[in-house]
Amino acid sequence: MKHVVVVGGGVVGLTTAWFLLDAGMAVTVVERHGRVGEGASKANGGQLSYRYVSPLADEGVPMKAVRWLMDRDGPLRFRPEADVRQWRWLLSFLGNCRAKVNRQTTERLLALGALSRESFGRLCDEAQLHDIAWRQPGKLVLYRDVEGFRRATGKIDPSGDGHEHPMSRRQCLELEPALSDSASGLAGGIFTPSEAVADCHAFCTALAAALRSFAGFRGIVQAEAQGFDVERGRVAALRSSAGRLGADEFVLAAGLQSRDLMQTLGRRLPIYPLKGYSLTAPVRAEHTAPSVSVTDFERKVLYARIGNSLRVAAMVDIVGENLAIGAERIASLMRIVRASFPRAADWEQAVPWAGLRPATPSGAPILGPSGVDGLWLNAGHGALGFTFSCGSARVLTDLIRGRPSPVPLGRGLAVA
Ligand SMILES: Cc1cc2nc3c(=O)[nH]c(=O)nc-3n(C[C@H](O)[C@H](O)[C@H](O)COP(=O)(O)OP(=O)(O)OC[C@H]3O[C@@H](n4cnc5c(N)ncnc54)[C@H](O)[C@@H]3O)c2cc1C
Repeated sequence: MKHVVVVGGGVVGLTTAWFLLDAGMAVTVVERHGRVGEGASKANGGQLSYRYVSPLADEGVPMKAVRWLMDRDGPLRFRPEADVRQWRWLLSFLGNCRAKVNRQTTERLLALGALSRESFGRLCDEAQLHDIAWRQPGKLVLYRDVEGFRRATGKIDPSGDGHEHPMSRRQCLELEPALSDSASGLAGGIFTPSEAVADCHAFCTALAAALRSFAGFRGIVQAEAQGFDVERGRVAALRSSAGRLGADEFVLAAGLQSRDLMQTLGRRLPIYPLKGYSLTAPVRAEHTAPSVSVTDFERKVLYARIGNSLRVAAMVDIVGENLAIGAERIASLMRIVRASFPRAADWEQAVPWAGLRPATPSGAPILGPSGVDGLWLNAGHGALGFTFSCGSARVLTDLIRGRPSPVPLGRGLAVA
């Protein structure tokens, strides 16, 4: 039985562990925290957004970014750092801000999304994951700008599979009456009924427990991974605060920190932290809280009902590896949610959270061989790591078994 060490107990590492075990391998997970899902996977937006995958890097985004930076409650903040990794990432991001590149990446991510949807369903059935607040309410993307709405509806493939439905302002209100408080100035929306939501942290916790049902599971070692021992060109062991861990194969699924661990091998990973915030507040009344999951396109704010709470996620702050919960950003988010859904939740009780999206410049994760024998990469999932976790885990499991990837890899779904 092949033994694989997976570094990282976030949603990407844990799903990787599950699919490897399911394929008959032995697995050890290494996680520095005493609990799983304490990094970016903790209080994210909770959206399983398999169809709405277009990356941030797109034509026109650099110009929009200038406007966003000037808006007090805008979605973007930038603080220049004396860190070459920030500038290198930004230059590469700008290189990806082209319509053709965005189209190619979106196409590949749609294939990964479809695989992820199917794989998430299989995992939840087989692992019997029930208490994860999964629902399939569909996703409504709202547009306030008429021209933006026209462009977005124009992108829907009329001969396509009918996933996306353009909706007038009136139809948006019929679908989601909770929008009545913020409907003025709404141009329209695009509804995708197949999209889902779930509690990512609860998913991680339940999945970690489910791993124990496999005979090949060798446990979660609480340790800080520090680097790799390479012997005759192949990774032979992981060096960690708990000692040296040998295995046949190693998977780096440590989110943002994957770049630091690759650096110990003298290799660069183009991953940069895009800081985001969330608020989680108890729902006040059923009819005033949105039931469908809502994305406010221009403000870049997501709303998802997770159990009896409303989760709001927003902001892209390019400020380095900084997890402080900024009072000014939370105040901005509060202003936005009180204007959009004033009666939906008990905002006084909202719990704020900040997380770092491990983002690549193209918006596609880094999946596949690392370039050092025996070491594989599953990292850089950016804004959609919960969504893509199961598909990425399937891809990596097939590659480790010597099988072809079930979705096309290459530019736009990066192999390092
Ligand atoms: C505000 C916000 C909203 C979001 N909303 C959504 C959403 O709605 N839908 C969606 O799909 N995605 C969303 N995301 C993105 C998603 O949360 C991330 O892409 C995903 O959590 C990344 O998972 P990961 O396992 O790669 O990283 P992490 O969850 O950060 O896990 C990495 C793990 O590795 C461990 N680790 C790191 N270094 C070491 C080391 N040296 N030794 C041992 N362990 C180590 C860490 O402790 C951590 O547990 C959002 C993110 C943010 C910040």
